[in-house]
Amino acid sequence: MRATYDAIVIGTGQAGPSLAKRLAKAGMKVAIAERGRFGGTCVNTGCTPTKTLIASAYAAHLARRADEYGVALGLGAAGVTVDMKRVKARKDAVVDDSSRGVERSLRSQENCTVFQGHARFRSPREVSVGDARLIAERIFVDVGGRPAIPEMSGLGEVDYLTSSSMMEIDVLPRHLVIVGGSYVGLEFAQMYRRFGSQVTIVEQKPRLIPSEDEDVSAAIGDILEREGIEVRLDARCIRAARRAEGVAVGIDCARGAPEIHGSHLLLAVGRRPNTDDLGLPEAGVAQDPRGYIVVDDELRTSVPGIWALGDCNGRGAFTHTAYDDYEIVAANLLDGASRRVSDRIPAYALFIDPPLGRVGMTEAEARRPGRRALLGRRPMSKVSRAIEKGETLGFMKILVDADTRQILGAAVLGTGGDEAVHCVLDVMAAKAPYTVLRRAVHIHPTVAELIPTILGELLPLAAAGD
Ligand SMILES: Cc1cc2nc3c(=O)[nH]c(=O)nc-3n(C[C@H](O)[C@H](O)[C@H](O)COP(=O)(O)OP(=O)(O)OC[C@H]3O[C@@H](n4cnc5c(N)ncnc54)[C@H](O)[C@@H]3O)c2cc1C
Repeated sequence: MRATYDAIVIGTGQAGPSLAKRLAKAGMKVAIAERGRFGGTCVNTGCTPTKTLIASAYAAHLARRADEYGVALGLGAAGVTVDMKRVKARKDAVVDDSSRGVERSLRSQENCTVFQGHARFRSPREVSVGDARLIAERIFVDVGGRPAIPEMSGLGEVDYLTSSSMMEIDVLPRHLVIVGGSYVGLEFAQMYRRFGSQVTIVEQKPRLIPSEDEDVSAAIGDILEREGIEVRLDARCIRAARRAEGVAVGIDCARGAPEIHGSHLLLAVGRRPNTDDLGLPEAGVAQDPRGYIVVDDELRTSVPGIWALGDCNGRGAFTHTAYDDYEIVAANLLDGASRRVSDRIPAYALFIDPPLGRVGMTEAEARRPGRRALLGRRPMSKVSRAIEKGETLGFMKILVDADTRQILGAAVLGTGGDEAVHCVLDVMAAKAPYTVLRRAVHIHPTVAELIPTILGELLPLAAAGD
């Protein structure tokens, strides 16, 4: 079957469906292809399931702490136990509902035809999906990524899990060993510790989430270790071997035993784009050495008429950045706008408890020679809302350019940090001076209430960092 469309969209992740519907509503005849589950990574194996599981883990954690709040649960000798089958069923219900919603909205969209199967370029204007040959003047690639599997000695001999296959687990691992101490690994680490597993994180760098500031890494390490998670840093020559009781992970660290014996191994060492089986050479679309599709500031690839959106272009690694890619492409194509990726302020969260909300520069980045930066910092133990909630771990810090008075960045590690950081983000997006936020009257008692206060206590960066 050969059919001509005005636009083809490949992938139903966080950019594709919205774009397909917007183009169809604008009167274009649109085809959209999906080879897996509708909704892509975020809905099926990423944001939605992890945050649903994290909510179960939080419930278990709070139940264990109930006594601190003067609440008696009347539990028997077993204390708090977690029914992993019910935890998974709850997660599955949320995920299925969301995935079905994406599929339903696409199938019911006028002018939009859904193809299920693997899409592959045959030429710059032609894509195959199974027996179908689809032709269009405009093709939008939103194929996302998948977990990267590292070159690790012994990996071929052992069973291992990834962030995707973790979604099928409905039993409690006795001892989960996680290779990779960054965002994905840390969320799983705390989640499974709270479910009741023994958890060890193995990280080859000298600190957790090394892209963050050292004080952030240290505070996160402290939060996790307080819950009984073992953190093994500076791990060299990480290797795996099969054992009767599960898996042995060999590490040569400066401190601690050279081998960890676990029941389950999770690899959380980053992601790679789904571009290796897309036929990009047939279309002439340029990729970088890591396989990401090269795009310009408006997400156009090296081939006119082909755009790349979401994780596969290497310009973002989040649901909100993929969705913003859709908005950029749609606005430029349909509304005559000239929106650009480089206008986007980097922002994200790490959803451990308490969460880390991040926006803009780190302190290390702000310390550029020649820049006069100011820093405000406050521990969560001095935030009344955190004290009232009994959740005082973490801190907030905000960086300001002393000359322009623009906010450079912020880290809010603490209860509600993923929400509170948005007031900083919005002032940055408005390109307003920090004094606007300094004078805003925030609601008491909230975590965000302290942000104007911190901005009133700024010190020159060098002095503040000492
Ligand atoms: C464990 C985990 C937790 C995460 N948590 C968060 C979070 O809390 N917040 C956040 O912002 N981000 C989070 N992310 C990242 C987020 O999931 C991704 O950034 C987001 O899903 C990217 O969307 P996308 O549209 O680029 O790609 P995807 O969502 O990956 O979608 C791509 C789609 O394309 C399909 N596809 C691929 N190749 C083809 C082909 N050849 N033919 C047809 N279809 C194809 C795939 O099946 C998939 O459905 C998390 C990721 C993981 C792994």
